[in-house]
Amino acid sequence: MNAADRSKLAEKIFDGVLPSPAFLEEKYPPRSLPEGAAVTRFAPSPTGNLHIGGLFGAFTDKLYALRTGGVFLLRLEDTDKKREVEDGVSGIVEGLAQFGVVADEGVTGCGSETGAYGPYVQSRRKEIYHVCAKYMVEAGLAYPCFCTEEDLNTLRAEQEQSGVNKGYYGAWAKCRALPPEDQLRRIEAGEAYTLRLRAPEDEGRKFTIVDQVRGRLELPQNTMDIVILKSDGIPTYHFAHAVDDHFMRVTHVIRGDEWLASLPLHVQLFELLGFQLPRYAHTASVMKEDNGSKRKLSKRYDPEAAVRFYAQQGYPCEAVQEYLLTLLNSNFEDWRRANPLLPLAEFPFSLKKLSPSGALFDLIKLEDVSKTVIARMTARQVYEHAAAWAKEYDAALYALLSADPCFAQAMFAIDRGGKKPRKDIAKWSLVRETYSYFYDVLFAPQKSGAAEVLQAYLAVYDPADEKDVWFTKIKSICEPLGYCPDVKAYKAAPESFKGHVGDVSGFIRLAVTGRENTPDLWAILRVLGKERVQQRLKAAIAAEQINVGECQL
Ligand code: GLU
Repeated sequence: MNAADRSKLAEKIFDGVLPSPAFLEEKYPPRSLPEGAAVTRFAPSPTGNLHIGGLFGAFTDKLYALRTGGVFLLRLEDTDKKREVEDGVSGIVEGLAQFGVVADEGVTGCGSETGAYGPYVQSRRKEIYHVCAKYMVEAGLAYPCFCTEEDLNTLRAEQEQSGVNKGYYGAWAKCRALPPEDQLRRIEAGEAYTLRLRAPEDEGRKFTIVDQVRGRLELPQNTMDIVILKSDGIPTYHFAHAVDDHFMRVTHVIRGDEWLASLPLHVQLFELLGFQLPRYAHTASVMKEDNGSKRKLSKRYDPEAAVRFYAQQGYPCEAVQEYLLTLLNSNFEDWRRANPLLPLAEFPFSLKKLSPSGALFDLIKLEDVSKTVIARMTARQVYEHAAAWAKEYDAALYALLSADPCFAQAMFAIDRGGKKPRKDIAKWSLVRETYSYFYDVLFAPQKSGAAEVLQAYLAVYDPADEKDVWFTKIKSICEPLGYCPDVKAYKAAPESFKGHVGDVSGFIRLAVTGRENTPDLWAILRVLGKERVQQRLKAAIAAEQINVGECQL
């Protein structure tokens, strides 16, 4: 087929005036970024809830762009309208933003975007794809294929019988060799057709490529005449990937390893289109340990697969980020220990350190990281985060916290700060249970069985006492009641005492908080305040007395 025929065919297919690829090159010029700055992109399809694997990938893109002083963009791959879900776009944008992954460029919400390399939604880029597809037809690199579903089924059956590779390629590609007049006639007659790549016919040839995660790979060259434009003129993922990543001037394509099998085709498309190949980094799926073996996190069976889960549970954004970093780069934890307060953007994140075999997701470890992150926060930050979470997910808790923010902050301040802050909460949904005894409506009294201790303490209790005075007073009530004020002395002769000073404060703790273990009791009493402490002590004493009465009956 000569150039004139090809040009006629291209005009027939792309009826109407289209700009040239050179126009696009000019409209979307190479970016002026410093040497080494990476342009990364997250390119989800709005076909379901944001998955932790998606957040993992987007976070990687964001970190790498940040680290290199580049740009991270968000593109929507919405060419599969059948699989699209309602709220898919806002779900993605908000789900990412909740965990601090905000793009520098691209889609910012449903129907909104920012940046000079758009549109960033594939369904609005039809003309751009057509410019490139037209060039492919003119260059003899693409041709119309009129095969129907039935034709393709027959082809498959024949290939199966002959025991050859299945697919549309080489001599099996019927429409490859259609004479130009047939092509034009059939298009004019209104027959449906797709546009297929004319793949170079070098079966068995291999090429090498360096993947940023997997290193040097030797792969077979693509020989399949894959569809680049569907019969409705919408591009397939493969073609759109090459066109979009080129004209958005993406330098690093970081994506799941399910795309590794398509890499030969993608490399070929870039070459045939005359585009510079971006660097590829194929990351492994997020895995989970299940009964001693590793498997992929499942959207269907694992609630922790959905990003929504982390927001609902109330894991702070910083905790999720830190945890993802422990999964991404194994040297992160050492770095964090050495630099507990540095912003994450300063971590020397490296693509080469990503595991090619799949990061193992572990909720226990996340909780651990999260406890440390929350322990580093100030009482005010804890209050703000907890209240914001409760506002959305626990209205009753929100009402309690926001009714007296000073009280709530005083409660969160207990055992906070200093060299070894207490690590007791891993997520905001645990605030209600952890701090329940600070609120009368949540407080669950427990019987201590030591009314005489509580009575004696009530007599000496003074809310104004400093910690040492407070403790001296507790010691002072020990002896008259048969308890030893000194733990060492008690241990030397336990049979001489009912217990020691620790047991005495344990009774007070139980009466006032309903718990056997709490943070600093003196600080708790201070925050609870005189009225509440006295009232709880009295109630506990009264409950013991009723108990005695019950026994006597
Ligand atoms: N839309 C593709 C997906 O959701 C993007 C793949 C890629 O990152 O290249 O899997």
